[in-house]
Amino acid sequence: MNSPVSLRSLPPSPREFGFWVDNRWVAGSDLFERNSPGHGVPVTRVPRCSVDDLNAAVAAARRAFEDRSWAGLSGAERGGVLLRAAELLRQRRDEIAYWEVLENGKPIAQARGEIDHCIACFETGAGAARLLHGDSFNSLGDGLFGMVLREPIGVVGLITPWNFPFLILCERVPFILASGCTMVVKPSEVTSATTLLLGEILAEAGLPAGVYNVVTGSGRTIGQALTEHPDVDMLSFTGSTAVGRSCVHAAADSNFKKLGLELGGKNPIIVFADSYLDDAADGAAFGISFNTGQCCVSSSRLIVERSVAREFEEILAAKMKKIVVGDPLQDETQVGAITTDAQNATIMDFIEKGKAEGAELITGGQTVEIGKGQYIAPTLFSGVTRSMSIAKDEIFGPVLSSFHFDTVEEAIAIANDTVYGLAASVWTKNIDKALTVTRRVRAGRFWVNTIMAGGPEMPLGGFKQSGWGREAGMYGVEEYTQVKSVHVEIGKRSHWIK
Ligand code: NDP
Repeated sequence: MNSPVSLRSLPPSPREFGFWVDNRWVAGSDLFERNSPGHGVPVTRVPRCSVDDLNAAVAAARRAFEDRSWAGLSGAERGGVLLRAAELLRQRRDEIAYWEVLENGKPIAQARGEIDHCIACFETGAGAARLLHGDSFNSLGDGLFGMVLREPIGVVGLITPWNFPFLILCERVPFILASGCTMVVKPSEVTSATTLLLGEILAEAGLPAGVYNVVTGSGRTIGQALTEHPDVDMLSFTGSTAVGRSCVHAAADSNFKKLGLELGGKNPIIVFADSYLDDAADGAAFGISFNTGQCCVSSSRLIVERSVAREFEEILAAKMKKIVVGDPLQDETQVGAITTDAQNATIMDFIEKGKAEGAELITGGQTVEIGKGQYIAPTLFSGVTRSMSIAKDEIFGPVLSSFHFDTVEEAIAIANDTVYGLAASVWTKNIDKALTVTRRVRAGRFWVNTIMAGGPEMPLGGFKQSGWGREAGMYGVEEYTQVKSVHVEIGKRSHWIK
């Protein structure tokens, strides 16, 4: 029996979860205990599922797909379930935000904002369910009519990371459901709680059994088995480029399942001398510190015009020093804990490499001691050259590398000098410069004089090694469908055999 919790303080004992199949909790025998990264105490226990558990979840999703209990509903009926889910999510907003904070370490105010975005995702998914449609060809001559049907692709496997456990989930689930697909989700083992709680919410909203299933456990076992599963028709994966590559091999070696991949980023923020420097500095500070920089779209490469570079870095460093790093359960905290021990070590390692390779440390560069948690101060390096480790690799932490440029062409060249192409932003008052850079920098998401703005109507995804396909909005729903060309004879058919 789980003890009641106050949502303002740490739970008296770790909350125990089952996994979720066919709209029911299933108890696990082997449990993984998760420590809050912000507090260093155990907060949840989730099952380490077996491959048999995974097979049962995929079988449930297959049954629910084939019996048409979901795919056979009208778009309006599917949309109705998604709208009820949005309402239930609104009612349970603080509770979901609380477990997100405890497992991930992000600030509570930010987590609540993310749940608001998730509610909007469900509302947008509801509209998309009604609007999804195919096409017709009235141009095939008087004897033939052509229709293009969009059909759900089938059973979807969804693997999500630990940096935005609930937000990344909700940028996909409503759109997968809108298409009529069923699914098996594998969240990161360290942040599974809120993905499991969504099962309860969807069941209460009226989602038929077997449509949304969650298996928990490590990526190496359960995640890998899901990527290889021969009865999964499509896999949506968000995480590291290395595992994304292994998903491609697994898909090829199993059943050629379709893949959606959202992978790493090393995202440029280009600041021209004619921009409002204070606004741009605020954007740069937010872009690298939001979610402690553990964010695939975080702007981790500052590319600033040389004539204002020193002045800009001083304004930026002053702002970064004011960022409130603190206990994620406190309302005023802006930057919380680093989510995993491994990530903490990776970030500190990059900071050491930055110093050793000759970059100039302007601010940060050290851990922040807050109780038993793990925290790192927002960090700015200047004088970074294109060959340094902190210039090329995704750090996934609050570490910003600053480059200087003289011409628009040079700024574009530095921005594109990466294997990634997830996101970018440009700051200038000059519309010609803004649009030239927007056209020429290769990235799936772009911001002009703002950063990380958006809504669930807008598609998400990357160029180059940042991934394949798009999530969210109508583009996202269409990814989970396949098209069927239907040819209808009109009038009397002229026979081939005379
Ligand atoms: P991973 O890619 O290992 O983890 C992402 C998800 O994949 C998790 O659910 C994980 O499960 C699962 N997973 C791990 N191994 C496999 C596998 N062999 N087959 C299928 N699924 C698997 O990222 P890390 O947690 O190791 O982070 C490493 C780096 O990846 C970060 O430093 C960052 O650079 C990048 N990253 C990028 C993200 C993004 O949003 N683009 C998100 C997360 C990381 P489990 O956690 O249970 O092992």
